[in-house]
Amino acid sequence: MKCSICKSEIDVQANGFTEGHDAMPLSKGRCCTKCNDTEVIPLRMAFVHMGRPIPSTALKDVLKEQRKAKALAKVSLKAITKEVNERKKK
Ligand SMILES: [Zn+2]
Repeated sequence: MKCSICKSEIDVQANGFTEGHDAMPLSKGRCCTKCNDTEVIPLRMAFVHMGRPIPSTALKDVLKEQRKAKALAKVSLKAITKEVNERKKK
């Protein structure tokens, strides 16, 4: 099974468990011990420290959506700039 964060093979834990760890709220699915210790746990701790509930949507998905929205905004901005420039020429 692959880690949903770093995409490398999930390690076998000391107790023989091969399914890794719950990668939420960073990513849907499972993750390796390294990502769990260095990414997922600190993220959960950060939410606890901020007194915020752990998000139920994976942050990776939120970022993906934001990137999509940003890309879309960029394209629209380019189109608007182009239109303005073309109008200036006339
Ligand atoms: Zn990993």
